Amino acid sequence: MADAVVIGAGPNGLVAANLLADAGWSVVVLEEQDEPGGAVKSGELTGQPGFTHDLFSAFYPLAAASPTLRRLELERYGLRWRRGSLALAHPAPDGTCASLSMDLDETAASLDAFAPGDGDAWRELYGLWRRTGPHLLAAMATPMPPLRPGARLARELGPSGLVRFARTMLLPVRRLGEERFRGEGGRRLLAGNALHTDLAPEATFSGFYGWFLAALGQEVGFPFPEGGAGRLTDALVRRLEERGGRVEIGMRVTEVLVRRGRAVAVRTPKGDVDASRAVLADVDAPQLYIQLLAREHVPARLLDDLRRFQWDYGTVKVDWALDGPVPWTAPDARRAPVVHIADDVNELTVTMSELARGLVPTKPFLILGQYAAADPTRCPPEKEVAWAYAHVPHGVELDEAALVDRMEARVEELAPGFRELVRARHVFSPAGLERANRNLVGGALNGGTAQLHQQFVFRPTSGLGRPETPVRGLYLASSSAYPGGGVHGAPGANAARAALTAARLQRI
Ligand SMILES: Cc1cc2nc3c(=O)[nH]c(=O)nc-3n(C[C@H](O)[C@H](O)[C@H](O)COP(=O)(O)OP(=O)(O)OC[C@H]3O[C@@H](n4cnc5c(N)ncnc54)[C@H](O)[C@@H]3O)c2cc1C
Repeated sequence: MADAVVIGAGPNGLVAANLLADAGWSVVVLEEQDEPGGAVKSGELTGQPGFTHDLFSAFYPLAAASPTLRRLELERYGLRWRRGSLALAHPAPDGTCASLSMDLDETAASLDAFAPGDGDAWRELYGLWRRTGPHLLAAMATPMPPLRPGARLARELGPSGLVRFARTMLLPVRRLGEERFRGEGGRRLLAGNALHTDLAPEATFSGFYGWFLAALGQEVGFPFPEGGAGRLTDALVRRLEERGGRVEIGMRVTEVLVRRGRAVAVRTPKGDVDASRAVLADVDAPQLYIQLLAREHVPARLLDDLRRFQWDYGTVKVDWALDGPVPWTAPDARRAPVVHIADDVNELTVTMSELARGLVPTKPFLILGQYAAADPTRCPPEKEVAWAYAHVPHGVELDEAALVDRMEARVEELAPGFRELVRARHVFSPAGLERANRNLVGGALNGGTAQLHQQFVFRPTSGLGRPETPVRGLYLASSSAYPGGGVHGAPGANAARAALTAARLQRI
């Protein structure tokens, strides 16, 4: 019998399994799909030989900076990071382009071109990151409440500095951009990064996300694994197996079995799998509490709170095999693996307002990835492999072809000749994403909204923001748990640490 069963081989499940194996536990990871990785996979999606696509997630600043993942030393298990000569570019039809480089002078020069002085404004914001970033990253990798990183942050900033910092972080990204920058470039850069979540530019706390991701990009770039996102998963699996852990694919867990208030096994169509010490669930919170646990094990109040659980928006993702690099008019956009497409902050406001009103955006905000310049292993010479995704509301009737056409028109506007290069395309609808991974409910990619009312002690529902569940020995280890979506392994690590601590205290 294994000490622990992990349900789901996404990055969080695999990180949790690795940490338990490091502590000497025997671990089995049960994965429904026919390969591990969750939303971290790559393959020949468009059927074009030699083109390797990232099926879901693609760029990993969070992983590269995550203290948890760094400690796993995945480079020793075959992971090699690649980076573009720029981290990110945000071109617009007026010919301007805001660029984020790992070279601070280059980022500053790009923003100064919009308004002199904006380069220094970015240096100041990035200076704030240099002082606070390590503590914030440590806080993410610590179960709530993150007392030690919080105390270090307070010591670094002092009482009045801490209050000012809190105010800055709570700002809507529109306001943060207006306070700090005179030109559109810096504002666009922050707002585009904030919209990697489902927060509108006017939402409280969106300033934090915009600043956090832009500063991470400044520090570690927007790196990606050589050869495809799947190499990150391969390294996690290899590391686990070296410690005696194993991943079983094609194993859907249908129930968590509870005896005397304690999780003791999981049920699969192929039989029950026992766990002597813990069950860790890398599944979304509603699935765990509503589908996998019998009613009598879930307090009525938690079930009631779950009725108010909010998913982040759905997603439509297009992958392209291209006959050449995207012919961007803006030279910087040719150098950046990540490109944001939105005319300006006002347009982002319109887009988010359409989503909030249940409408498919007329001019969708695109996050686009392209690799050939920085990773020639992903496609044949002189070709390109690229993708873009846009968000859509849940439950709408979607004219998918029309949306894809609008998405491609946006790229074409900034890169005339793009359409002619399309050799093959693959489209993931929201339902298609969910079929490929049941955690991606309706195409939601962050395990639930990142808005303040479902973050920290409100994640996944009002409580303590901790991985423990009402069932002893059962832990929530997915991005539905604090600190949320993205590939950083923190929810998995937090769950593993909670399981190890409980086992030590209870001597099991
Ligand atoms: C299109 C897309 C783009 C993204 N882009 C980025 C990006 O560029 N950078 C970034 O950092 N993040 C990105 N993300 C977010 C990131 O991928 C997720 O936050 C992350 O993968 C969450 O990890 P997880 O382990 O919690 O869950 P997942 O990765 O979703 O893995 C969960 C696993 O559990 C399995 N599972 C679920 N239920 C069961 C069950 N009952 N029995 C057995 N197995 C089960 C699933 O099959 C899946 O393999 C993106 C996500 C998507 C979908």
